[in-house]
Parts: sequence; structure tokens; C-alpha cells
Amino acid sequence: MQGLSDPRVIRPLLEKYGFHFSKALGQNFLVDGTVCPKMASLCGAAETGNVLEIGPGIGVLTYELAQKARRVAAVELDRRLFPLLSETLADCPNVRLVEGDAMKLDLAALLAEQFGGERAVVCANLPYYITSPLVMLLLEERLSIDSITVMVQKEAAERLCAEPGTRASGAVSAAVRYFAEPEILFHVGRGSFFPAPNVDSAVIRLRLREKPPVEVEDEALFFRTVRASFAQRRKTAVNSVSNTMGMEKDAVRRAFSAAGLPENARAEALRLEDFARLCAALALERNGKTGEKGTAGDHQ
Ligand code: SAM
Repeated sequence: MQGLSDPRVIRPLLEKYGFHFSKALGQNFLVDGTVCPKMASLCGAAETGNVLEIGPGIGVLTYELAQKARRVAAVELDRRLFPLLSETLADCPNVRLVEGDAMKLDLAALLAEQFGGERAVVCANLPYYITSPLVMLLLEERLSIDSITVMVQKEAAERLCAEPGTRASGAVSAAVRYFAEPEILFHVGRGSFFPAPNVDSAVIRLRLREKPPVEVEDEALFFRTVRASFAQRRKTAVNSVSNTMGMEKDAVRRAFSAAGLPENARAEALRLEDFARLCAALALERNGKTGEKGTAGDHQ
């Protein structure tokens, strides 16, 4: 159905199905008719042919994706939306709706089932309450996807796309860069939504890399090192790592020195290659002392 970003179309539809927005599920719907066609064009739907959408809502982006892609699979948690979606997507036979929580579903199995092993892209207006965990899940699972194009809160967009080694960076910026090349595509003001939220948004695209830009022997320890460095942002990275990873400060100092990093460095000054060298040096310190290694379980 066209016009799904027009309040004159949305309101009667919501009334007909007795649907009320759930703030808890991040349900703000777009009322700016230019955003979804732009996202559908920029996400590579036409080129790849297969799109995974998370949180179709009333189907405004889903409809645009269906015009470009061969197949769209849309995962929605709120089952109250399904009767409404069958009406708004009635003329889109290439859309499959999947009920479930995107954080809990086996996405690799879902992609294989929906797209028969072909590669896909992800495109979504994400529920903001799970932006970073969901983006990280999509990256870490090493799914057969080429890119992730998502609308997120403006501040989250800036953090996710920040270059490690710059002030705006955080642990998630380093993790994103490890797996992908990120960019902010365009900004979307709060007035483009109904009900209007208190925040502005931006659409970002993460193109997945074939291989990480740095060599890391123990990935779990690498991500643990990154998170530990940023855990106490106001402290030096030596202190933050020592406190968070429960390592002697002297051992952490030696690791920084072996990695060629100044003792007073802050996490935001460290680039991806710095974290990689630091991780290798910390592993040597840890192995020398305890023989421990990071495990996948450290990933939390
Ligand atoms: N795509 C629509 C749009 O552009 O207007 C709606 C986007 S709305 C911000 C987020 C959607 O994600 C809602 O439909 C909500 O029910 C759904 N959602 C929230 N948490 C989810 C989860 N864990 N898994 C799947 N869908 C979820």
C-alpha cells in the first residue's frame, strides 16, 4: 500500500485495527515520504536482491524495499501488527513476515531458509532501545550479508561511525570498524516521525569487510581489551584496563610499552592497530602469569 507515511492514511488504518503505539518497543513511525525510498535505493536491495528487515512496523519501509528487491524477509516482534501488515503489504507477494525477536532468532538459519544461501543486505528503521546490541549481533554472527543500512538515533550514528583514535570514538566504534566500513548517509529530523520523539536520527550504512583490517589472534580477548580500555573513560587506558580486567597495573604498563603506546594514553586516542598490538602484548602478560586466554564467553 502506498502513502504509509501520510498521517491521513495511517490514522484510519490504526483505528481499523485498534492499534496503539508501544513506546517500549520503540514504535515511532515515519511520516516523511522521502526517507524510505531513499533507504531502499541506498541499501543495495536491487543489486543484492534479498533484504532482511527488522521491525517493519506498519510496512512503510517494507513496501519500498519490496519495489526494489526480489525477496524481503521482515522480522517483527509485535504480533498485533500482523493483521495490519497483511493489508498494507497485500500487493507485495515477495515479502515474507516472520514473527519473532531479532535478538533471539537464529538469524543465520533464517537467512538460509528465506534466501536459499544467497547473500542479502539488512535494511531497517531500528527500534532504538536495542540499536548497538542489534548492530553488534548482526556483525559478530558473520552472517552472509553484504551491508547493514539502518536508521538510528543521531548520537548512536555518530558513535557507530566514529573513527577509532578520535574523540567521538567508543568501544562500539572500534568493534564496528573491525567488521565493517561505516558511513553516515543522511540525517532525519525528529519531525519526520509520528509520534515525534525527543531525538534526531540518521541513516548509516555499514559495508561488511571480507577480512578485518588488523590481524588478531584471540578475537574475544581483543574485544575485551577494547571494552576494558573504554570502561572508565575518564581514567587512562592503563588504569581502566587494569581495573576492569583485574590485571596488575605493572603488567598492563609493560604491555602498553611493548605495544609502543604511551602510559598516559586514553582509550579514545587508540586506533584499531593500537588495540591489536595491545591485545597481543596483554595476552603475553596474561599467559606468562596465569596461562589464561580469552574465551568467546568473554564477549558479553
Ligand atoms: N519500520 C517502521 C517504520 O519505518 O516506520 C517501524 C520502525 S519502529 C522504529 C521499530 C519496529 O521494530 C516496531 O515495529 C517494533 O514493534 C519492532 N521491534 C521492536 N523490538 C523488536 C525486536 N526485538 N525484534 C523485532 N522487531 C522489533
